[in-house]
Amino acid sequence: MPARAPRRPLASATLALHGARGAHRAGDPVVEPLVQSVMHRQPVGTTEGLLYTRYGNTPTAERVQRRLALLEGAERALLLSSGMGATACALTALVGPGDHLLTSCYIYGGTHRLFFEELPAMGVTITTFDPFVPGALAAALRPETRAVFVESPVNPTTRVLDLAPIARLTRRRGITLVVDSTFASPINFRALEHGADVVIESATKFLNGHHDVLMGMVAGSAAYIERVLQKEMLWGQTPDPFAVWLLERGLKTLGIRVERANQNALAIARWAERQRAVRRVHYPGLRSHPDHRVARRTLDGFGGMLALELAGGARAATRALRRFEVITHATSLGGVESLVCEPRFTSHAKMTSRERARLGIPDGFLRFSIGVEAIDDLLADLAQAIGPA
Ligand SMILES: *Cc1c(COP(=O)(O)O)cnc(C)c1O
Repeated sequence: MPARAPRRPLASATLALHGARGAHRAGDPVVEPLVQSVMHRQPVGTTEGLLYTRYGNTPTAERVQRRLALLEGAERALLLSSGMGATACALTALVGPGDHLLTSCYIYGGTHRLFFEELPAMGVTITTFDPFVPGALAAALRPETRAVFVESPVNPTTRVLDLAPIARLTRRRGITLVVDSTFASPINFRALEHGADVVIESATKFLNGHHDVLMGMVAGSAAYIERVLQKEMLWGQTPDPFAVWLLERGLKTLGIRVERANQNALAIARWAERQRAVRRVHYPGLRSHPDHRVARRTLDGFGGMLALELAGGARAATRALRRFEVITHATSLGGVESLVCEPRFTSHAKMTSRERARLGIPDGFLRFSIGVEAIDDLLADLAQAIGPA
């Protein structure tokens, strides 16, 4: 028999839809079944085969976790009941009393609170560094640093980190590099391919993509994920099978959704650069973006996240938000519906106007999560909302 040619690995969009290649048997359902049962009949005389929803090992969860591991290029992935649950379990599996956690200063607000309000009580020391300042990481590392945490792309300025130099440094020192790449999704960026040891995503966002499921994911080595699983089991952070089944349905269209969001966001960014009402456009796909070259080199798509600074400041932002008819004023991101929010009333509400401006988020700053609507309808909605009265 002639040897079969080695088969090309499946592309991310196909993995998200099908998982690994498998034999097709007549009579199998095309849509995988939801197994909602919390407990399963146990074999006699052994601890093997003890399945329980909170242990993250029931059939629906196992199936989707395998698929996510393939998508991220990881040995193993674990689903948790929210992105925050994922971050909490991922980090407490890494750092303990006497350890130092070094975090980027540009991280999700909830993550920041978890690190600074919860971890110190567990004896963890936490400090921040600015990943865009050369040398800042090396200067901030300590002998007791166990983990470095970064987020990329960054909320809400869409800055993009070059992971390779960070990973070279952490690897040499035996420090675990953890990356929250919620904004990219594995269609646009797979952090493990760029040297990260652990990747976290809020599956609430692009992975599910329909604004109707709360979930999180951690992926990494099998040995590390086993430690995260122990935290998940003890803290009860495991998602319900029905939510996981809905996530699986969302994943089927991940490729096409993200591709459309990439196209729509790029078209909007290019349009917005020509508008007098817009002072500045933040989008990694534009040459004017500070990280455009890093983004071109490391991302497979520039993403659905975009920000506009309106020339008219806070008043123009309020006026636009009252006028949008297709784009929805709501927090969160990554779903099929385009959303807009104003960081001064959401993620950065605790800061003064001047503090925000220093971070590059002046009043008049609107953050968009671009969905899959027809581009002409999005452009028309933007034009009527931010244009002349
Ligand atoms: C939303 C978000 C989280 C938290 O996820 P939840 O699912 O809301 O718990 C963490 N990191 C980033 C970058 C996010 O956007």
